[in-house]
Amino acid sequence: MYNIKSNEGGYLMEERVIKLQADLEELKNKVGEKTAAKLELDKYSRIIHRLAEFSADCEECRQYFDELESHLLQMVNQAKTKELTPQEIKVHRQMTANITSHLMKKHQLVPSGYYIGIYLALGISIGLVLGFLLFDNMPLGMPIGMEMGVAIGSGLDADAKKKGKVM
Ligand SMILES: [Zn+2]
Repeated sequence: MYNIKSNEGGYLMEERVIKLQADLEELKNKVGEKTAAKLELDKYSRIIHRLAEFSADCEECRQYFDELESHLLQMVNQAKTKELTPQEIKVHRQMTANITSHLMKKHQLVPSGYYIGIYLALGISIGLVLGFLLFDNMPLGMPIGMEMGVAIGSGLDADAKKKGKVM
């Protein structure tokens, strides 16, 4: 059987990205808004570009890109005739998690709004402790903690964006 993967260089990365984006759009249209949100398809446009970008130097990104090509195509074909099953959605979400984790660990990328999420939660718990220590009233410290968390988190998010590190 003819194997596309053995024909490296036969397909330009750029063409593959365009094809993949087209599959993604088609999938979005086919499954409807609710399922598209469940599949986090909004993220995928950026993920595709990142994988393509790193593919030149990263074997794993190259593999994920290959996987994504067959995976998205399969989902599009499936969505044409019937609804995606919960099992398929689960497989897709696992794939998203694997790719995201690789991009974070190997390429130091962060999801959009990553730091604000972390520091807001951290700020709230610190605020509660402060409220207890300073005012003998935990909830009183909460707005202070939240403000701190938002300030630090949004600063770090803005910095990551400036450095092109947002996924
Ligand atoms: Zn990689």
